[in-house]
Amino acid sequence: ILSPSPMSVILVTGGSGLVGQAIKHIISTSPPNSRFGKKDNETWIFINSSEGDLRNPEDTKRLFEKYKPTHVIHLAAMVGGLFRNMKYKLTFFRENTLINDNVLWSAYQNNTKKVISCLSTCVFPDKVEYPLDETKIHLGLPHESNFGYAHSKRMVDIQNHAYKEEFGCNFTSAIPTNVFGEYDNYDLEDAHVIPALIHKCYLAKKNNTPFIVGGSGTPLRQFIYSRDLAKLFIWQLREYEDVEPVILSVGEDEEVSIKQVADAIVEAMDFKGSYEFDTSRADGQFRKPASNKKLLSLINKPGEEEFRFTLFKEALQVSVQWFLENYDTART
Ligand code: NDP
Repeated sequence: ILSPSPMSVILVTGGSGLVGQAIKHIISTSPPNSRFGKKDNETWIFINSSEGDLRNPEDTKRLFEKYKPTHVIHLAAMVGGLFRNMKYKLTFFRENTLINDNVLWSAYQNNTKKVISCLSTCVFPDKVEYPLDETKIHLGLPHESNFGYAHSKRMVDIQNHAYKEEFGCNFTSAIPTNVFGEYDNYDLEDAHVIPALIHKCYLAKKNNTPFIVGGSGTPLRQFIYSRDLAKLFIWQLREYEDVEPVILSVGEDEEVSIKQVADAIVEAMDFKGSYEFDTSRADGQFRKPASNKKLLSLINKPGEEEFRFTLFKEALQVSVQWFLENYDTART
């Protein structure tokens, strides 16, 4: 006779954001007890800053004592585009360091069984041999433009190793590439490239002005749809038991150029006006491919529901549609 599995309480910090909302969607819409659906013995709790400020140790302690999570997916962070990162380096470093230290310490104090924290490919060294992989995080300094954010996020990997060695904790991390999808931040000043271009194209269509894309359009990037990423977080929570991070991304052979992104937005938005590239604007790095070999070697196992990435164009179409339908409430 199988004994009933113990109850799990899974706390998702940053639960109102792009990635948090996607996890909430996947866990509640996948068939119950399936690979990505909610299990009978699980309670999922999604929190955001209105319930407590994770920069504050007392708030964090209170939240952990209130929910007593057995597992944590830690997404909450001060996040922003290049401009904000360049302007507020100390603030990015300090706020993220406070949040991460409070969450991990409270998790340890409350005997949380497992924590997955979210890093970013920005943590990787600027001068490094490509493709990026999980072994290269600490091999050199990160890019100067966002060193505050990058150093702070890197330290989570150090903390995870130290918590394991000193206290035997099961803390690990995920490294997503560029995420996009429903509930993104579309703020024109501050957004990542896909939501920023969606918003710009929307305004060009509405105001009958040209859609101008900064740069040459040639740089290549790996994009992951937030709901695909959500499945990978759920997989990592349930099926991955190591301290070393996992890059959660589409493959290196699935890079997309900024021009392809802009073309797909023009199509999804049904934009018929003039559309051009402003080559006087800086392009940034041409490419910074990250390998998803480790993920692919682990994710699909015989007998388990198969994981597949959504086609880029399909996911983009859905994201544009979401933006159009939610313009009034989206973060713009
Ligand atoms: P969002 O900006 O969409 O959401 C951020 C979340 O963090 C919100 O729920 C926000 O709450 C919460 N939060 C921020 N500050 C605090 C605080 N002081 N106390 C409590 N909660 C706080 O972020 P994403 O979903 O895009 O990012 C999630 C994670 O993924 C982050 O760790 C980020 O670094 C990482 N990441 C993101 C990528 C991307 O392309 N978006 C790429 C790679 C990594 P509230 O709504 O109340 O403000």
